[in-house]
Amino acid sequence: MRYVSTRGESPALDFEGVLLAGLAPDGGLYVPARWPRLSRKSLISLRGKSYAELAAAVLQPYLGSHLDADAFGRLLAETYGGFDHPAVAPLTQLDANDWVMELFHGPTLAFKDMAMQVLGRLLDGALARRGRRATILGATSGDTGAAAVDAFRGRQAIDVFMLHPEGRISAVQRRQMTTAPDANVHNIAIQGTFDDCQALVKALFQEADLRDRLNLAAVNSINWARVMLQIAYYVHAAVALGGPDRPVAFSVPTGNFGDVYAGYAAAMMGLPVAGLVVATNRNDILARFFASGEYRRGEVSATISPSMDIQVASNFERYVFDRVGRDAAELNARMAAFAQLGAFRVEVGNADLFRAASVGEDETRAEIARTHRATGWLPDPHTAVGLAASRIRRGDPAVPMVTLATAHPAKFAEAVTAASGVVPQLPPRYADLMQRPERCTTLPNDVGAVRAHLMAHAALGDRRSAA
Ligand SMILES: *Cc1c(COP(=O)(O)O)cnc(C)c1O
Repeated sequence: MRYVSTRGESPALDFEGVLLAGLAPDGGLYVPARWPRLSRKSLISLRGKSYAELAAAVLQPYLGSHLDADAFGRLLAETYGGFDHPAVAPLTQLDANDWVMELFHGPTLAFKDMAMQVLGRLLDGALARRGRRATILGATSGDTGAAAVDAFRGRQAIDVFMLHPEGRISAVQRRQMTTAPDANVHNIAIQGTFDDCQALVKALFQEADLRDRLNLAAVNSINWARVMLQIAYYVHAAVALGGPDRPVAFSVPTGNFGDVYAGYAAAMMGLPVAGLVVATNRNDILARFFASGEYRRGEVSATISPSMDIQVASNFERYVFDRVGRDAAELNARMAAFAQLGAFRVEVGNADLFRAASVGEDETRAEIARTHRATGWLPDPHTAVGLAASRIRRGDPAVPMVTLATAHPAKFAEAVTAASGVVPQLPPRYADLMQRPERCTTLPNDVGAVRAHLMAHAALGDRRSAA
């Protein structure tokens, strides 16, 4: 399998190449040169397989010669064997034809573990094969950082530096990062906002000397491997609910468009998907796009579903690339317009597939309470946005609707309790989270201070070992 950059100015790469690169050198995102086909026969053959077996069978064509089917299957079985639920991504029925797919049974209680846990193993293996090390540098407002720290802690070939805004993430989110005892994990609390953290990371990635010396790597959702690994659970749910004989619809709590793009990829591969509801909170750039064909930047506002507080959806470029007929010149013109004017237009396309809805704060709180009252199942605020949107854009009631449950309610306990009166409990593995010792360095919002810290603490930054 070859991967091409959406901007058209970087050479095509194989899977291992895009795994290690993240973003393409021309600033584009990698996409597969063609979609592998999921035939009716191959979908039927997935019935009865475990989650790891199904994922290995569906995703193997994307890996090419990187790993053989047996090795990939073992890696997935080992990864998902560490999740809290034996079904990995269990489906819970809420109504006659309404389901939630629980994607929060991984180590940090959000769906990002589904891909990040595998990415940690894939990246470590690829670096070891090439005899290289890498330094992961990222900024987090909560979920991504926790997932990355857990996925990369203790890995031989990797150091992780994760910046978060001091005092501005929840105690559970902070402690999921700062209680990792491993020497290769470096938490940094920045005296500033999340935007300050992101600006620091961006500035450091632009320093060519530092980037090369530390072999800086990013693991945000633009990495193709993360998108790819999310395709599997759409197939898993569809097959469990009667696919390929019965099409299934999905409602996807959306921020960076990574998760719902994986659903689009599954449909492009041939999975019968009856609809994809793009569910956003009041940060509604994507809902506005699917209503109007205009993608226009807005102001970010803080909500009780903070992992979706995004106004520029980084994976959306992958979809736009298909909308302009995979013409890189057309894509570049749109991106230039967006950079200059904050907006562009493109044909919405896939009218039978995408539907979108924006859900406000009061509706989100009401949905948490309503779902709990009616079904006994307690959604987190992100999942509640998905559930509310699934009803606004329900479509044919005879089609099964699966809402992706992207976080465990205890991860956002304060908002959940305020909305429903119920206090969600952390799973047993976190019973002593609040007692564990924390490791974290506080630094000022200053690029020099962060650079010095990286050089002093990254294995590749140590001048003695480099000499
Ligand atoms: C990251 C995240 C989302 C948004 O996913 P995207 O792939 O960015 O669209 C939704 N819910 C939760 C809980 C998340 O952590």
